[in-house]
Amino acid sequence: MIVYSLACAKGHGFEGWFKDSAAFDAQAVDGKLVCPVCNSKKVSKAPMAPAVSGTKSKGAPSTDELRKMRQFMTGLRKYVEENAENVGRDFPEEARKIHYGETEERPIYGEASLEEAKDLIEEGVNVAPLPPDLDEAAN
Ligand SMILES: [Zn+2]
Repeated sequence: MIVYSLACAKGHGFEGWFKDSAAFDAQAVDGKLVCPVCNSKKVSKAPMAPAVSGTKSKGAPSTDELRKMRQFMTGLRKYVEENAENVGRDFPEEARKIHYGETEERPIYGEASLEEAKDLIEEGVNVAPLPPDLDEAAN
């Protein structure tokens, strides 16, 4: 069973118990959800639902959000590839050299294992993971 915070069109808030989210959808479509205060059938999940155990307060990101995220990540990767030097597997060494002033300071990108990345961060080297190439991964 899950509980949803519901509200009618007039703003009366109440709780509704459902077997699962599909049961809520089915009852909402059938007009079986009725406000106990004013009998309004315009009932929907309250937008500011308090976190109640069992509710899905954090839904999956919408298609639109995913598209924006994807655009952002593709753009970020493109920016890095166009503006930074690809040092490949030398990345941990080069990043360290730049950090300690042993070589010219410049934007670089490349490969590092999780362990190497962790070591760099522990040393205070400013590194950030580059988003995966989504277009490439999709192919
Ligand atoms: Zn009402």
